[in-house]
Amino acid sequence: MRILLTNDDGVNASGLKLLERIAAHFSDDVWIVAPTEEQSGAGHSLTLTRPVRLRKLGERRFCVTGTPTDAVMMGLAHIMKEARPDLVLSGVNRGANLGEDVTYSGTCSAAMEGALAGIPAIALSQAYAKEGMGDTVPFAAAEAWAERVLGPLLAAPMPPRTLVNVNFPALAPDAVKGIRVCRQGLRDYGRLRIVQRTDPRGYDYFWFGLGPAVQTPGHETDLEAIADGYVSVTPLHLDLTHEPGLARIAALY
Ligand code: MN
Repeated sequence: MRILLTNDDGVNASGLKLLERIAAHFSDDVWIVAPTEEQSGAGHSLTLTRPVRLRKLGERRFCVTGTPTDAVMMGLAHIMKEARPDLVLSGVNRGANLGEDVTYSGTCSAAMEGALAGIPAIALSQAYAKEGMGDTVPFAAAEAWAERVLGPLLAAPMPPRTLVNVNFPALAPDAVKGIRVCRQGLRDYGRLRIVQRTDPRGYDYFWFGLGPAVQTPGHETDLEAIADGYVSVTPLHLDLTHEPGLARIAALY
């Protein structure tokens, strides 16, 4: 099995090193094509207005000066063009990707790009307990649980153009209660926090941050699974059509 690894935290992120160890349980044909710099929040963006540089860092290790989507495209359409991967793994992200995070997430979007190309794809993210932890975020739950989560997923066929979003709770491995398959939740929009400061030259600047997660009103969601101490496993697809809306809007014309 040929596996392409990518992420949105950049080619040097510790979560990607962990993903290499995870992937090594399943294959010795593992390739890495990841963004040169951190691209968290890049979503599914694609670089069209400037050139993208590709650097070879090792036999099967590359970085791309673009977004996670750019990295996957470079992997599929250039580096691995002659022998495409059988699986795309994205992560392990530093921080959860739950609820509507998946639309902002470069981690999930890289997996979406794999799914769009017809390749089974899984996004993996590690929740952390509090903001401001920098590179000290523990990945212990992901390290201990990833193989148990991925094994059955990889043994079963995945429907085309779908992906799986996996999140590990911010707990020590033995405190994790298990694996819960659940739907995508939705947070309250009040989570956004904009910090306004003044730069050394006297001009204001703004920095977007994310406040504490507001719990979804719906139960049996990924948000609730993580809050309850479970690994969340959520199947996603890229058809965003709101089915009831078809008839409702058609009736307007
Ligand atoms: Mn990230």
